[in-house]
Amino acid sequence: MKYSPDEIRKAAIAIQPYIAELLDAPNAQRLERQLEGLLSQSSLKQGSHTQLSHLLAEHESTQDWIRLYLEEQYPAEDILKALRVYYPLPGIENSVESPRYICPVEKCNQDWYRKNREDEIPVCPVHGLKLIIDS
Ligand SMILES: [Zn+2]
Repeated sequence: MKYSPDEIRKAAIAIQPYIAELLDAPNAQRLERQLEGLLSQSSLKQGSHTQLSHLLAEHESTQDWIRLYLEEQYPAEDILKALRVYYPLPGIENSVESPRYICPVEKCNQDWYRKNREDEIPVCPVHGLKLIIDS
C-alpha cells in the first residue's frame, strides 16, 4: 500500500470496529490483537506504519476497506454495505440468508441482521423505533 504513515494510522483506527465482519473469527481476533498492540504505543515508532500496512493488506476485504476509506473517502460506517455488493463478507455467518432489518426512518443508517429466529428485533438506538424488515 502506498499511503502515508498518518493515513495508515488513521485507517487502522477507523477499521477496528469493523474487523469482526470483514474476516472470519480466528483472523479477525488475530488482526484485532495485532492492531491494538501497534496502536497502543503512544507515538508510532519509526517503521511501525509499515507493519500496520502489511497487516491491513493481508486480506482482500481489509485491503478494500482501506482503499474505499482513504482513496474514495467513504464514511467508515458505509463501507461494509459497499463491500457486500462485491462479495459476501466472512464475518457474518449466512449473511445471505440472514434477513436484514432497518430503521423505518428514511435515511437512517441503522441496520441489523437476524441470525437466529430467537433473536428479538432491536429498536433503532437513534430513533427508538422497532426495526422493520428490509424488503
Ligand atoms: Zn433510526
